[in-house]
Amino acid sequence: MEGDDLSFEYGHFLPWHRKCYAVHGHSSRVRVEISGELEGGMLVDFGAAKDAVKRVLEGFDHRLIASGKYAEQVGEEVLVRYEAGGGRFELRLPASRVVLLPGEATVENIATAVAAAVMGTMPSNVTSITLSLSEGFRKGAEVTLSGRGGAGAGAGGRLRAL
Ligand SMILES: [Zn+2]
Repeated sequence: MEGDDLSFEYGHFLPWHRKCYAVHGHSSRVRVEISGELEGGMLVDFGAAKDAVKRVLEGFDHRLIASGKYAEQVGEEVLVRYEAGGGRFELRLPASRVVLLPGEATVENIATAVAAAVMGTMPSNVTSITLSLSEGFRKGAEVTLSGRGGAGAGAGGRLRAL
């Protein structure tokens, strides 16, 4: 499934990257392919599945996505700190505006996190999903997650750069 409504905006940073070390944002478009066993002649209720994907994307929309290693929870807030490009970056945000990942906030890891969250909303007859996340011409990643409970990157996951 795809569509103008399957999109989200996010901020991120990659401290080691020549250009992307500074906090910046992207508009991402998402495409999801669902595979599995038919149940009652149906794979999924398309409308319900699309709503589930939209709800997952809302959880990432207009948030800072960052590696947990740069973040520290301070009460209801998250303090994000790192050094890059010869300077110090420090952000303090409400915890609800931050999504923390185990790894760096690369488009590959973001796609994997979104795919795992989408997989978690699918009925049990869905055995794999392929999710591509595109942020412009030839910039993006596609991840395939197979099997249930495969929330982690790597385990049953296959990645492709777009
Ligand atoms: Zn970026």
